[in-house]
Amino acid sequence: MLYLTAPEALGDLLAGEPRYRADQLREWLYRRPVLATADMTNLPGRLRDVLAPALWPFGVEVEQSADRGSTRKWLFRAPDGASIEAVLMGYRGRTTLCISSQAGCAMACTFCATGQFGFERHLEAGEIFAQVAYANASLRDSPMAGSPERVTNIVFMGMGEPLANYRRVREAIRRMVEVAGMSARAVTVSTVGIVPGIRRLAAEPWPVGLAVSLHAADDDLRSRLVPLNDRYPLADVIAAAADFRAAKGRRVSIEWTLIDGVNDGPDQARKLAAVARELRAHVNVIPLNPTPLSSDRPSAEAAVRRFVAAARLEGANVTVRDTRGREIDAACGQLRLRQAGEPAGVA
Ligand code: SAH
Repeated sequence: MLYLTAPEALGDLLAGEPRYRADQLREWLYRRPVLATADMTNLPGRLRDVLAPALWPFGVEVEQSADRGSTRKWLFRAPDGASIEAVLMGYRGRTTLCISSQAGCAMACTFCATGQFGFERHLEAGEIFAQVAYANASLRDSPMAGSPERVTNIVFMGMGEPLANYRRVREAIRRMVEVAGMSARAVTVSTVGIVPGIRRLAAEPWPVGLAVSLHAADDDLRSRLVPLNDRYPLADVIAAAADFRAAKGRRVSIEWTLIDGVNDGPDQARKLAAVARELRAHVNVIPLNPTPLSSDRPSAEAAVRRFVAAARLEGANVTVRDTRGREIDAACGQLRLRQAGEPAGVA
């Protein structure tokens, strides 16, 4: 499996080939990905044939597109059955890929489809990076009108908790930045708040972005939504985020999935604003995507507006995340749930 081998060790797979072949292959895999080895035009035909079945570490189980072609979503399947989701979103001036770091997730946030399904396994660094390569190969094959023809931004907001799979996520980021030549500033790690992981990431050489999934601004409510809060309470998460900001000189963002009657009241808006001011963070409000195993509902539009207005009045910098890909279950873990035979019509 080509992506399961470190980019520097590709030569080991090419016994009997001239040394420059490894450089050529690395260029194809990391800088100019193509969907099939048949398109690796400077490699000899026999080598393209030999490498063909080893190109992708997963098969494509589902590919869907939505929002008039500006959203593309994949459910990949590893040979051992692990599912891997990625969502590509084209905007004017940027093409953002949302990737998974684990198959499933052990964090058990109550409102998250992936959490409800439990943990399967960590993804390998190569499985994480291959999502980026596959999206780039897909874009090369069929670009999105009006958006860059390469992935310009990466967010670790698909399945899994990236900081619970630290070593492999780190290696995937290293490949993105040092091998594929992406800007570290265009890579955002989103975390439920694993404090030691935030601190380790702050000490890495790359100025990646950090998003913290807050969802509640006091420990009582947060512990109900995010079980990990019992281990890393709010004050510790906020302190780690502040240190990350200081170390990297990069604005941290706060994610807030808005749930009807749970965390959309004026009290939470006020407390959220206090945290956002302290961190000088940008707040991303995400309207809840309902999931089959929870009775939580999204806040009504008027409630979203009230919440945002209240937080802004208290000095927070807030935007509401657009809801791309609703009709293709492009929210965390939902396509996989659908494939696993959950009732249709939940998105
Ligand atoms: N584990 C990481 C990254 C994956 S989830 C984290 O927690 O940040 C990416 C974002 O989507 C998180 O903010 C998460 O809370 C949010 N999310 C999960 N399920 C959701 C749902 N059903 N509706 C809206 N947002 C959801």
